[in-house]
Amino acid sequence: MSRAVRIPAGPVVDSVEIRVRGRVQGVGFRPFVWRNARDFGLSGYVLNDADGVLIRVCGELTNIEALLGEIRAHAPSLASVQSVEYQRFSGELPKTFEIAESSAGQSNTEISPDAALCTDCARDIFDPFSRRYRYPFTTCTNCGPRLSIVRNVPYDRQTTSMAAFDFCPDCAAEYADPSDRRFHAETTACHVCGPKARLFRFDGKPFSFDQASMLDDVDAALGLIQRGEIVAIKGLGGYQLACDATRADAVERLRKLKHRDSKPFALMARDLDVIKRYATVTTEDEEILKSAAAPIVLLAAYGPDRLPEAIAPGLRTIGFMLPTTPLHALLLRRMNRPVVMTSGNRSDAPQVTDDADAREELSGIATYALTHDRDILNRVDDSVVRIAAGKMRIVRRARGYAPAAIRLPHGFEQAPQLLAAGGDLKNTFCFVKSGAAVLAQHIGDLADARTFNDYTATIGLYSAMIDARPEAIVCDRHPGYRSKKHAEDMSRDLGLPLVEVQHHHAHVASCLVENGWPLNGDRVLGIALDGLGYGENGEIWGGEFLLADYANFERLGTFKPVAMLGGDAASREPWRNLYAHVKAELGWPSFQMNFSSLEVFRHLERKPRTTLDAMLRSGLNSPKSSSCGRLFDAVAAAMGLCFERQGYEGEAAAMLESAVDHDALRSEDEALAYPFTIPSLKETRLPYIEPLAVWNAILGDLVLETPVGVMAARFHRGLARAIAAMCVKLAARDCQAGPRFDTVALTGGCFHNRILHEQVTDQLEAADFKVLTQATVPSGDGGLSLGQAAIAAAKLIENNKTTGGNTSCVSVFQGAS
Ligand SMILES: [Zn+2]
Ligand SMILES: [Zn+2]
Repeated sequence: MSRAVRIPAGPVVDSVEIRVRGRVQGVGFRPFVWRNARDFGLSGYVLNDADGVLIRVCGELTNIEALLGEIRAHAPSLASVQSVEYQRFSGELPKTFEIAESSAGQSNTEISPDAALCTDCARDIFDPFSRRYRYPFTTCTNCGPRLSIVRNVPYDRQTTSMAAFDFCPDCAAEYADPSDRRFHAETTACHVCGPKARLFRFDGKPFSFDQASMLDDVDAALGLIQRGEIVAIKGLGGYQLACDATRADAVERLRKLKHRDSKPFALMARDLDVIKRYATVTTEDEEILKSAAAPIVLLAAYGPDRLPEAIAPGLRTIGFMLPTTPLHALLLRRMNRPVVMTSGNRSDAPQVTDDADAREELSGIATYALTHDRDILNRVDDSVVRIAAGKMRIVRRARGYAPAAIRLPHGFEQAPQLLAAGGDLKNTFCFVKSGAAVLAQHIGDLADARTFNDYTATIGLYSAMIDARPEAIVCDRHPGYRSKKHAEDMSRDLGLPLVEVQHHHAHVASCLVENGWPLNGDRVLGIALDGLGYGENGEIWGGEFLLADYANFERLGTFKPVAMLGGDAASREPWRNLYAHVKAELGWPSFQMNFSSLEVFRHLERKPRTTLDAMLRSGLNSPKSSSCGRLFDAVAAAMGLCFERQGYEGEAAAMLESAVDHDALRSEDEALAYPFTIPSLKETRLPYIEPLAVWNAILGDLVLETPVGVMAARFHRGLARAIAAMCVKLAARDCQAGPRFDTVALTGGCFHNRILHEQVTDQLEAADFKVLTQATVPSGDGGLSLGQAAIAAAKLIENNKTTGGNTSCVSVFQGAS
C-alpha cells in the first residue's frame, strides 16, 4: 500500500525556547545540552536561571526535536527532569551554541543533594599517571559536594565555598572543554589549585610520620587509625570521628570520650568484600550502598567475622556505608577492615562543621585531625536507610537525599508559600513554594541548645537560598516544643498567621504526600504509631487510628492509655512503663501472687513503689498516654532486654525487634501470637487495643522460660494482627453505606521497625486494604514537617475558596482541626 507523503521544499528552520524544570543545576545539564546542540548543528545558548535551565536554539526543526528527545531520554545521571516546555522564540541568537552566564532573579526550589565519588573520578584518584592521583577533592559533573558547600542558587562556583579557589590553567582548560566531563563542573579542582588536606595534632605539637611508608597526610591518618588512634576527620557535611572498628579497645574508648552509651556506631568499609565479612548484603542493599546517595544502610549483622559488641550493643543490625568522598576512598585504600565513622560531636550535640569548633569540642576525644580548607556551609549528616517489605526506607534523610524537592500532589498547585517548623525530635523543617516542598536535611533534637541554634540558622539559610516568602508559619500543637515557640516568634515578628497541626495527623499527611495522594482524594485510615505527640484536650497520643484527609481528621481508635510514670522520665526508663502496665492490667497483688518467682518481679519490687503508687493515684507527673512506643518499652523491659535506662531514643524497641527469632516469626502456630483484644473505652466509646491478655501470656512465657526470641516474635505477630483487626472493625459498613475507607496509611517512628512494618502490611493486604507506606520520607518525626506543610496548605487553599482569597481569617486555623 502506498501513501502520499508531502515532502517539504527544504529543511524547516526555526527558533525555539525550551524551559527545563526539576533538579537540573549543578548536575552537568548545561554541558550536556551544549554537546547535543553542537552535535545537532544548532545555534543559540543555554543558561541556568531561577526556574531551572533555559535553552534558546535556532536550527532545523527535526534537529531541535532530536535535542528535546535527548533531554527527555538521556539527561545526566544526577539530574531529575520534572518538565520540559517549549515555544517559538523570535529574538536574536548567536551564530554558534554557547553556555551563557547564569541569570539571578527569583530562586527556585531545586538545590542538589551531595553525590558520592563517581567511578570515573575513583579511577582518576587511583591512577598514578593521572594529575589527580590521590587528590582528595576530585569531582566532576556527576559527583561531589552540592548542598554542603552552597550558600545560594543559581548554583555556580561563586555561590559555593569553592569560590575561594581560582582555577589553575589545567583546570580552567577542562572547565572550558566541552568534551571533558569537568566541562562547567563548578567544583573542579586539583593538587595545584584546589583545597588541600592536612593532618595535624589538636594540641599543636609537631609530629612526623614515616615519609617512606606513608603516601601523604591522608594515608598517614590511616596509619594512626590502624595503630588504634581515634582521628577526627573533616568530611563532606561535618566532622567525623574514626577508629578501627575491629579493635574493641579503640571502640570502647571512643564511646567513653564521646559520652555515647549505647547508640550504634556507623561503619565505613573500603569495598563490599570487607562489608560482607560482617553482614549480609542483598542485591538491593548493594545497589543502595553503591548509589550516588551512598547512605548508611542498616544490614543484618551475619557474616563469617564478628565485630566488637560495643559497635551496636544488643542489636543484630549494623549500619555500613562505602566511602562517600575521594578523601574517604583514599583514606581506606589500604584498610582491609571496617572503620567506625561516627559524627564528630559529644553525645547529642550537632556534628561539628567549623575548624575552630572542632579544636574545642573534639580535641578531648581525638589527638589528631585530618582537615582541609574547603568550608562546610551546610551541616549535612550521613543518611540512614534500611530495606523493609522489599523497598528502601529512609530513616534519616540527609546527605545524598536532602534537599531534593518533593512535588506536592495534584490539587496543591496553588498552595501558598509556607514554612513548617517540624517537631522537636529528629527535626527537619519544610518550605513550600511553587507547588513543591523543600524538606531540609535532618537537623536533630532541638533540646540541645547548639542544635536549636543550628536549626534557626539553617532556616535562615534555606530561606535565603530559595528566596522564600511564606504566607503562614506551621507548627505542632505541643505547648512545650521549642519548634512551636520558634514558629510563634517568627509568626509574630513577620506578622504571619500561625497554623497549628496535630502531631499524628501530620504523620498521616506526610505519608499521603509521598504517595501522591491528591488534595481531593478520599479519606484514608491513618495508623500513626510513635513515642508520643500532643493530642486533643491536653492528651498525649502515640498509637492512633485516624480517619483523615489533608484538611481534617477524626480519631476512630487508639492504643490503651496507660500512665507515663514520671512524665518524660518514662521515655528514658522502660521499667516505668512496665510498672504502669502491671498496675493497670494485673494489679500488684495478682502480679505478686502469680509471678513472684520471676526476675522481673524482683527488679520491680525494689523500685520506690509507695511514691510510684501515689503518683499513679494522683496522676501527678504521670499523664496517660496511648503510646505504642511506650508499650514496646514495657515489653522490652519485661523480657529483660532493656530494663533500667535507654541510651538513645527507641533503644528498647530496637532491641525487641533485634531479639525476634525469625523461625518462630515465620513458622510458629498463629494461635501462639499474643492475643490483644479490642474493647471500647468507657468514657468515649473509642475502640482501643487492650494488652491485658498479652501481659498474662508474656509473664506466663517467662515462667515457662520460653526463649526471648520466640516471645519477641509472638509479640510482633500479635500486635500486627490486632492492628489489622482494628482496621477491619473500623472499616465496617455504616448502615447501608460502603466501608468508611479502603486505604490505610502506615506512619510514625514505630514503622521504622522492619518486622512490625512487614507484619502489619501483610496482615492488612490479606484483609484487602490498599496500604500506603513511607519510603523517601522518614515515617518518624523526620517526616513531620512535610505533613504539617501539606495540612496547612490544604486548609489555606480551602479557606481561600470560601473567603475569596482573604487570608487574614486566621482564627479558623487555630484550635481544633
Ligand atoms: Zn566524578
Ligand atoms: Zn587545578
